[in-house]
Amino acid sequence: MSGGPDPRDFFHQIAEHLRLEAEFGGDWIPVVRRRLASPPEQPARQPRSSSPPSAPGPTFRSRASEPPPEARGPRGKGLSRPDPPVRTTDPEACAAGRAGLDAIAAEIMRCKACALHEGRTNTVPGHGHPAARLCFVGEGPGADEDATGLPFVGRAGKLLTRMIEAIGLERSEVFICNTVKCRPPGNRTPESSEMRTCWPFLERQIEVVRPDVIVALGRPAAQMLLATDRPMNRLRGRFFRFRRIPVMPTYHPAYLLRNPAAKSDSWADLKKVHEFLAGGRIDEEEGSAGDAVESSAPASPPDSSQGKLFG
Ligand code: SF4
Repeated sequence: MSGGPDPRDFFHQIAEHLRLEAEFGGDWIPVVRRRLASPPEQPARQPRSSSPPSAPGPTFRSRASEPPPEARGPRGKGLSRPDPPVRTTDPEACAAGRAGLDAIAAEIMRCKACALHEGRTNTVPGHGHPAARLCFVGEGPGADEDATGLPFVGRAGKLLTRMIEAIGLERSEVFICNTVKCRPPGNRTPESSEMRTCWPFLERQIEVVRPDVIVALGRPAAQMLLATDRPMNRLRGRFFRFRRIPVMPTYHPAYLLRNPAAKSDSWADLKKVHEFLAGGRIDEEEGSAGDAVESSAPASPPDSSQGKLFG
């Protein structure tokens, strides 16, 4: 019997890569996407846990229970649409939230609290639904964002939009912002002092939106929210908490553009977020207990000299 690699593993890896490209909207495999649009019938999976009802355990829904493709996300692919997609559509509540975010944005526009104001064209406060259940927090504005005043509008922003759509949501249903609201020169990583100075704006935005879950895009955002200096490989893929709000650190879309192989990790992280939004609980194994972090401000400022994830 040969001891060489099983060729089936190779084909499984290719199939997984193509599936991820299709889920994230890759444009170079239309044939694969058409095939994925009509998946073969599969028998329902057995529950993951046989624990009695009173015992805590994984309760995430399996993909076997998802609705048919026509009930899926806005692009007809990806995962099912979370219900409800936003916390409220009540006009008064939304107007109050919008007013709160607008007031913060107006303060940001006048802010000169750190040196980043010197090079900005526009402030980039954030954008999205004022009662979003899902909030994305990135690092800082780039050139496209500085030019438009909107977060995540360049190539990385397009990928983020595809990631949002892949978990059944539309971009208008989430809230997207950054840890600093003015562009760092040359798209460098914000200094820890700059992130600390800008922190009250992000803190207040989260208080207004009150999301059910936050996705921290990249190391600086994750370290800032979780008041930790842990490296990204010890953060991503697990739920932590910021003031009881689950936080899922994952890779920044700009990093994914440079490292497409990391898309599979990011997709796995987003699926956990989707499962939570769809009614699943955070599995105790995911780090919600021993690694919970309660913080109103970064106790341990991020060290910008650490290994640069995006550098
Ligand atoms: S980055 Fe934040 S703290 Fe610094 S000037 Fe801009 S809004 Fe003010």
